[in-house]
Amino acid sequence: MLTSQERGIWLQTLNWLRANHRSKHPVVVRSVKMRRDRCGDTELRCRLFLIRINSTLPLQSRVDTLLHEWAHAMAWYAPEHNDDHGPEWGVAHARIYSAWEKWTGEGK
Ligand SMILES: [Zn+2]
Repeated sequence: MLTSQERGIWLQTLNWLRANHRSKHPVVVRSVKMRRDRCGDTELRCRLFLIRINSTLPLQSRVDTLLHEWAHAMAWYAPEHNDDHGPEWGVAHARIYSAWEKWTGEGK
């Protein structure tokens, strides 16, 4: 469970992603209980990206997972382009991550 302050950071991060890193399809993010060794995943369903994040993770891991999964939503152009970590994903992830570092001041 997140504290209310952590929940605020989580929602701000989501809003920031939605405003600054638009994907081709709408993105829905759900926090769900998953096995401990899973962080999250992304599926394309009916022109909608569904990102699931393991709700048992601490906030920083959840944010890292969210940035990782969001990059899939940015890089995933066609339904048959499946979930891997190829060059398009790498570029999307690097772009999101460095923008996020600037936004949060983490990169200083
Ligand atoms: Zn991945």
